[in-house]
Amino acid sequence: MSTAEQPEQSQQHAESPAPRPRAEPLGPVDSSRVPRYAGPATFARLPRLDETGGRADVAVVGVPFDTGVSYRPGARFGGNAIREASRLLRPYNPAQDASPFALAQVADAGDIAANPFDIGEAVETVQEAADGILATGARMMTLGGDHTIALPLLRSVARKHGPVALLHFDAHLDTWDTYFGAAYTHGTPFRRAFEEGLLDTSAVSHVGTRGPLYGKKDLDDDAKMGFGIVTSADVMRRGVDEVADQLRQRIGDRPLYISVDIDVLDPAHAPGTGTPEAGGLTSRELLEIIRGLASCRLVSADLVEVAPAYDHAEITSVAASHTAYELTTLMARQVAGEREDA
Ligand code: MN
Ligand code: MN
Repeated sequence: MSTAEQPEQSQQHAESPAPRPRAEPLGPVDSSRVPRYAGPATFARLPRLDETGGRADVAVVGVPFDTGVSYRPGARFGGNAIREASRLLRPYNPAQDASPFALAQVADAGDIAANPFDIGEAVETVQEAADGILATGARMMTLGGDHTIALPLLRSVARKHGPVALLHFDAHLDTWDTYFGAAYTHGTPFRRAFEEGLLDTSAVSHVGTRGPLYGKKDLDDDAKMGFGIVTSADVMRRGVDEVADQLRQRIGDRPLYISVDIDVLDPAHAPGTGTPEAGGLTSRELLEIIRGLASCRLVSADLVEVAPAYDHAEITSVAASHTAYELTTLMARQVAGEREDA
């Protein structure tokens, strides 16, 4: 490997002569020296965790697991498809006026190796790995994988922060009880999380839901768990600013976990997913709502259900990479804000 392929100090910091109270972040590979399409893919061309000496404020982690799906399989390939599409991300985010990879050390922590033949064991493996990452003080930006993995991730986050506020972007409720008798599936993580007391039920919301259900009881059960619902049609009628305002008010200063199922987007914006539903959000709406949450205490996030075999021209993985970028920027800004407060 040539030295040009090594991750570089972010420019802004490399030029500063001032004494440094902390190690400066290692930034992405410099795309003016090494073309974007060269070299192995990490998220946003960021350094691997071993290249930062294990140091990360935000760890981007893949979970190639899709044994919990009820319809089309293939999300096990989602994380690496997002990494490939994320080569085009650049270091300055004008929409949030922030350089996330200079504000915080963001690193690619690789993949959690989960057993594809034993969902219960996989759930435990993901939780153990997440416990280990959160124990280092890092926030997690997890790339699925199917939505089953939100349960072990929430277990880890709640172990650290107590019950968390939850924003769940999805076409589906994912609060069903069981499928074929199975408790751990991609349609059930938030019911399990509710039952286990992982959620602050005064601040849990679905955003972008739509499409047919099994019955009205699905909604009744969901409401009993405390969930608020902003449907896909609500987003269209009210607009992104009003929706973000409403969500921010509900969340307040609680620790917040965001879980994004890429099928929250319309199939026109995300064809590469396992359970598509017509009438979804545009990628522009999703990105804008997330940007509107900048004041929230985002402690970790996941982005799941990208199934690249059904994708075309990387439509889905590009949308997913930009969504993960906005979430990562929110977390990097939180890290920087907490550093200033300390
Ligand atoms: Mn879904
Ligand atoms: Mn889901």
